[in-house]
Amino acid sequence: MSALEVLTDAAVLMDDDGIISRVGPYSELRAGNAATVVEVQGTLFPGFVDCHTHAVFGAPRLADHERRARGETYQAIAAAGGGILSSVRDVRARSSDALLDSARGRLSAMLALGTTTVEIKSGYGLALDHELKQLDVVRALAAEPVSVIGTFLGAHEVPEEHRANPDAYVDLVIHEMLPAIKRQGVARFCDVFCEPGVFTVAQSRAVLEAAKALGFGLKLHADELEPSGGAELAAALGATSADHLAAISEAGIAALAASPAVAVLLPGTDPESARLALDRVRIELRAQNLAHPASALDISLGSATAERGERLNDALKQADAEMYREKAARRGDGTDTPPAG
Ligand SMILES: [Zn+2]
Repeated sequence: MSALEVLTDAAVLMDDDGIISRVGPYSELRAGNAATVVEVQGTLFPGFVDCHTHAVFGAPRLADHERRARGETYQAIAAAGGGILSSVRDVRARSSDALLDSARGRLSAMLALGTTTVEIKSGYGLALDHELKQLDVVRALAAEPVSVIGTFLGAHEVPEEHRANPDAYVDLVIHEMLPAIKRQGVARFCDVFCEPGVFTVAQSRAVLEAAKALGFGLKLHADELEPSGGAELAAALGATSADHLAAISEAGIAALAASPAVAVLLPGTDPESARLALDRVRIELRAQNLAHPASALDISLGSATAERGERLNDALKQADAEMYREKAARRGDGTDTPPAG
């Protein structure tokens, strides 16, 4: 935090490609630079980059949450046709216009929170026409005031019609989908869900090597539920990122550390990272209050994890109670209590 500093009467100098070349006093940067000047009121702050989203989808999968809370595993829900496959059925049934409408709403909510660059994956089509439908929506979102980057995630799950022969689906991804997606120019990256029960390391490698040969950047959903060698694969192939990694092995950590791949951790997909995300918010809050003591913000936060066998409702009540406890502790009078019910 000691490195945080607020500059007044400052300017940011960017080159023609939008790359920042200098930050400093306005008068100094203005002298000798024939730059176009854009006046900014308030505080100029770097935009956030969300490098892992599935922002083009139909309905949220709240029913899956309840099933997990009742003790079913992610794998069991997926095997019974829930999980990703239920989003696939949903996205296949929706028009591009409907998908575009709902995704626009999500993007503007993200922008309101400071996110100015968003990566968006396909992976709820799992057939060429539906994957293209999703990625065309991603392309259409480029008209919004947010930088959008498309990722082809055809190997997100094995679709129902190929459950008997997953290798045949991998062949389809490699030989039919990847070349067509490349021709359409709708995705910069290719991603694979590498996980036991979804795609093996060998299948993931085959898809990613084909993508690399076509010029796609590589990303990987790796070691999310079990350590299966996903991080090692990302490092070996020179991937841009390996994502999730909640179950990464020591060997996977060593491989990633020695490679240029970025480890993308996704808060909220496990209890510890949810708590870390809250700590992060508290740090940001302190930074804002240091910079703007006259308009200091006061936010109370609470979190809880729905354990197996526990209803989501109960977890929400716990989080709510924790938030009120924090609020009361800060005021030091204990007068704030949760509303009844
Ligand atoms: Zn994901």
